[in-house]
Amino acid sequence: MSILRKKTKEIKIGDVVIGGSHPVAIQSMTNTKTEDVEATVAQIQKLEAAGCEIIRCAVPTMEAALALKEIRRQIHSPLVADIHFDYRLAIAAIENGADKIRINPGNIGNEERLRAVVEKAKEYQVPIRVGVNSGSLEKHLLEKYGGVTARGLAESALDKVRMIEEMGYDNLVVSIKSSDVIMCVKAHELIAEKCSYPLHVGITEAGTVYSGNVKSSVGLGIILYEGIGNTIRVSLTGDPVEEIKTAKLVLKTLGLRKGGVEVVSCPTCGRTRIDLIDLANQVEDMVADIPLDIKVAVMGCVVNGPGEAREADIGIAGGVGEGLLIKKGEIVKKVKEEELLETLRQELLNWKR
Ligand code: SF4
Repeated sequence: MSILRKKTKEIKIGDVVIGGSHPVAIQSMTNTKTEDVEATVAQIQKLEAAGCEIIRCAVPTMEAALALKEIRRQIHSPLVADIHFDYRLAIAAIENGADKIRINPGNIGNEERLRAVVEKAKEYQVPIRVGVNSGSLEKHLLEKYGGVTARGLAESALDKVRMIEEMGYDNLVVSIKSSDVIMCVKAHELIAEKCSYPLHVGITEAGTVYSGNVKSSVGLGIILYEGIGNTIRVSLTGDPVEEIKTAKLVLKTLGLRKGGVEVVSCPTCGRTRIDLIDLANQVEDMVADIPLDIKVAVMGCVVNGPGEAREADIGIAGGVGEGLLIKKGEIVKKVKEEELLETLRQELLNWKR
């Protein structure tokens, strides 16, 4: 079964196109000081290696805006400048090579300042992500809807989109963020109905690695399942590389990405006689760089393991001090516990595609 995705306008961010029928692109954001070019480039390179396709940096100072030029030169993925409050930083970011800027038109100053940013974006053909979030919802919308609501968020975003359209620019991406997952889902449904710009989807302030992963997976999972979303960011209070891992897994789980080894493992139970938790973690690390599109099962026992591993291409099932190598549910051979990982690795390295 596959998800029917909503068609949107196509927007080009550097070399990456989002929207239309293009795959959902994975984004992350650096947490180094953008002014520190060396540290920022090092982090971006790690994120690129992990699978990040669009990278965003905060631009809180003119020094950061100017640093974008050198950062841009040293990286491969499109660079998005995240700007709040100061329209001059948005202009400088565009002039210094940003492939997209993210602004909240509501906090960038008056209309004249917004127009100056839009004119610069037009000149360089740089897309603008119009971002609104629950924390910065306008007073009149708070009053109209009696607080922060999905309708208020969607209306706020649409108002800003219209402002920029009236300035003659439609090279836009839209984002609405809320840490309330259900509100976020509803707001995305409303906005996807009413506008055809690609949507950047994320659950904001999702939390630490554990709670952030759960909240993001639930929120992104529902929104993407509805065919909404063209680029995603999992936002975690932690190493941004973790965001990429989660984003990839969310997309794969929904069938929106192919490729890579999928590891399934059993939850263990009273029948387990080997250290399966450690083994499953080792298998997951071991397969990370293996360029195969197959399913690997790591099961705790020989009673149910082979049967439960039937849907996998290859698997191992633990016994007492030994385990079984299984292919498509058929037992291939017995292997000592300490050799299970290496045996599986060799099988994968020699896998006939
Ligand atoms: S595969 Fe075996 S050890 Fe794992 S949960 Fe099932 S019965 Fe228990």
